[in-house]
Amino acid sequence: MKLNFEPFYQNLIDTLAAYGLASSTIYTDQYTIAPRKGAARANETLAILSRLAFELENDPEMIAKIRDYEKQLPDGSLEKKEVSMRLENLEETNAIPADVYQAHVQARGDSETAWHKAKEDADYEYFKPFLKKLIESRLNLTTYSPRFDGSNQYDLLLDGFEKGMNQKEYDAFFDVIQEELIPLIAKVQAAKPIDTSFMNKERDIQKQAEFSKDLLAFMQADPGRVYLSTTEHPFTNFYSHNDVRITTHYYPNQFLSAALSTVHEYGHALYHLQIDGDFDKTMLVDGVGCAAHESQSRFLENHVGRSKAFWKAMYPKLVEIFPDFASVSVDELVDMINTSKASLVRTEADELTYPLHILIRYQIEKMMADGSLDYDKLPEIWANLYEKYLGVRPQNDREGVLQDMHWSGGEIGYFPSYALGSAYAAQLYEKMAQDIDVEEALESGHFEKITQWLEENVHRYGASKTMREIVEEVSGKPFDPHIYTNYLKDKYSKLYHLD
Ligand SMILES: [Zn+2]
Repeated sequence: MKLNFEPFYQNLIDTLAAYGLASSTIYTDQYTIAPRKGAARANETLAILSRLAFELENDPEMIAKIRDYEKQLPDGSLEKKEVSMRLENLEETNAIPADVYQAHVQARGDSETAWHKAKEDADYEYFKPFLKKLIESRLNLTTYSPRFDGSNQYDLLLDGFEKGMNQKEYDAFFDVIQEELIPLIAKVQAAKPIDTSFMNKERDIQKQAEFSKDLLAFMQADPGRVYLSTTEHPFTNFYSHNDVRITTHYYPNQFLSAALSTVHEYGHALYHLQIDGDFDKTMLVDGVGCAAHESQSRFLENHVGRSKAFWKAMYPKLVEIFPDFASVSVDELVDMINTSKASLVRTEADELTYPLHILIRYQIEKMMADGSLDYDKLPEIWANLYEKYLGVRPQNDREGVLQDMHWSGGEIGYFPSYALGSAYAAQLYEKMAQDIDVEEALESGHFEKITQWLEENVHRYGASKTMREIVEEVSGKPFDPHIYTNYLKDKYSKLYHLD
């Protein structure tokens, strides 16, 4: 659906998109192949580009012009939707005094640097004052929002990562997660464990890379639009409608990690590539929420990439590259891929325990937001929650409270969107499995049946609808987290032979 904007506005989005493409290129380059010594200059360039973009959009004359323009656009049009989304974003930060904003950027930079050092040394005490200052600063920024009502700082932060979400919604969601998954995890932990040592055998990195290419080929990734490279912590970066960069990390003794992260990141890529091409450069692409994106990466990783049909189809290639896989059956392989074991580190968590890692962070963020968190006791609070929900206790701050970088960058309100995305994925998958024979599509190598379903029902809309709206329209019923917990109950009861 072609969007028609006034020349001044089209020029604005073209210019912002140009800065954006340049910044994405520099960013991805830095985290993949750039030699380290160029980092300072690259960072300087990124800072200049983002300042130019910021000044362009936040110029008071420009904002006044956009406000006027918004009023002229017909209600219900995509153009109006796009312009309103941009204005709402701009107004979130527009009232922040320059010195307050600059102090925040400084606190953020200091905190990130301190976090790196503290994590290396497993030393929370060193990081504590930086964290406390940054979180206070981040919460303070929200008080300049026109939507600030005196006490809804966390709501504003949550909404910033996924439009329409707030604490009340997330409380209800996590209540279901707790109620349904904690007893299930206890049963799984008491059941006979699945031996996964075979998966952790040393495997050549070149061969793993070859297998990742085969995975992309099986998922019919278009090499003209997607490029895979390697990095420390896998991510995806979106350059344009026809150019997405995905990354993975090969560990010699963790074959599954790279394989599933390739599938996960391709899920993000596919979503972006299948958004209506006419939305390119607009907020209808850039405004896609975090839970929305994570719903699509986890859809591909968990519902497709961990399924038996998927591995049945990949098995011949797998054995061709790693002949020792011939000694395990497809059933044994799929059991190992889906095993669940309580662990300390979120990024290594299995599908079942993952939402509990998120619940713990959510509970701490609520304390940060209402001012009740005792920063002196944060490592202990963290450890106690891990013990309570997962039965494991970190031995140091590196594997405990310092493991993730989000808080060190002032990103509070981000974590909950990960768990919500998984639940959206489950409700979408339930409907897809009614519409098409997923197993048959995978086993016969017709991956396009899956991508076409996703494009038609989910992807093409971009941010013109929220993922909640899409989930409810596609499934024909209200969002229900029980669909997600029931899917996990069913899957893990079978896998661990629970009654
Ligand atoms: Zn992701």
